Amino acid sequence: MVIKKLFFLLLPLLLTDCSRPPRSQREFVLGTICVINLYESGSNRLYSRIFSRIREIDRIMSAFPGEFEDLLNDSAPLSDATIIDPNAGGAAGGGVGNPVSTLVSGVLAINRQAGIAPVKVRADLLEVLVAARRYAELSGGAFDPTIGPLVKLWGIGSETQRIPADYEIAAALELVNWRDLIIDRAAGTAFLNRQGMEIDLGAIAKGYAADEAARIAKEGRVKRGIIDLGGNIFALGWRDEKGSVPWRIGVQNPFDIRGESIGVLKVHDTSVVTSGVYERFFETSDGKRYHHILSTINGYPAENGLLSVTIVTERSMEADALSTSVFAMGYEKGKALINSIPGADAVFVFADRSVKITEGLSGIFTLTNNEFTLF
Ligand code: ADP
Ligand code: MG
Repeated sequence: MVIKKLFFLLLPLLLTDCSRPPRSQREFVLGTICVINLYESGSNRLYSRIFSRIREIDRIMSAFPGEFEDLLNDSAPLSDATIIDPNAGGAAGGGVGNPVSTLVSGVLAINRQAGIAPVKVRADLLEVLVAARRYAELSGGAFDPTIGPLVKLWGIGSETQRIPADYEIAAALELVNWRDLIIDRAAGTAFLNRQGMEIDLGAIAKGYAADEAARIAKEGRVKRGIIDLGGNIFALGWRDEKGSVPWRIGVQNPFDIRGESIGVLKVHDTSVVTSGVYERFFETSDGKRYHHILSTINGYPAENGLLSVTIVTERSMEADALSTSVFAMGYEKGKALINSIPGADAVFVFADRSVKITEGLSGIFTLTNNEFTLF
């Protein structure tokens, strides 16, 4: 009798526990660990909507077919949004209606058709390409979405990483020029002017994905949460329910990558994105480091005294593009660019352990590590 009663009492408790929304969910996607924390308002369904959208963005915007080889034989149904335009499959050379070609009707298709024919692309990809071209122009070409051949040549972070020969770098650089990315918005097409050119959206796609994750979360009535796509962060709302406590986002110590920060940003409703030498790199036996943000001028990893640049701005796509742009441009030019963009701010960390911030961050950024000096 007692046992029965207990069972009766326990059951509803267990049930409510099972249906309680998960506090956070993580998944390896976009080549990194993505952690999303929607606090009290996240439901399993909402998390799953967000992660499938992120996976979809990864498929469309990745320049690496290898990552999706398994998907080419995937029996799992694709989300409706993935198969948008059968013509895009045709343009990819795979024939209309062929599921393989619809899968690659993103960046891969544009790259395959370089110098051959314009490719009709999905509206979301077109939006990112238009933005990427704009940041290329704003950064004077330091940020360049056609950097693919150079990225692949170095292979930083991959099994093929190596220091290329000068003639190889020269040949790859020859193929890098954002002005040769032709976008026809009315026709919805993208075209690379010359054969061998390749788009690489590694410096902007994660930001776009974070914006999309935030959009879906807000549509699901989420008021506060943290979307962290491999350090590309979107801080949704405030940390507390009343809207008075800001989020505290750490700025990574570039010398100590295990979550150690040099300072903290107190923010709400904004994105925080860092580009740094520690994100992806290899070192030679003499200790020289080759990192993954490449100079479009000499084809080598950008070297200008900066170890990292953190951008704070409302749109994550902008923060992502700007973090890479400013890193590649260097401090003086990069700072001028940030100051010309309303709502954008930056934290610069230098190899000599000095730290600089733009005006908008005074009172928002606090240095917490006394090995560094804020100027
Ligand atoms: P992370 O990928 O660590 O978030 P970034 O946003 O700075 O860092 O993006 C770096 C990636 O962008 C590289 O791995 C490469 O794919 C691409 N890339 C490298 N150099 C440039 C550049 N000058 N312009 C545009 N994209 C670049
Ligand atoms: Mg970036």
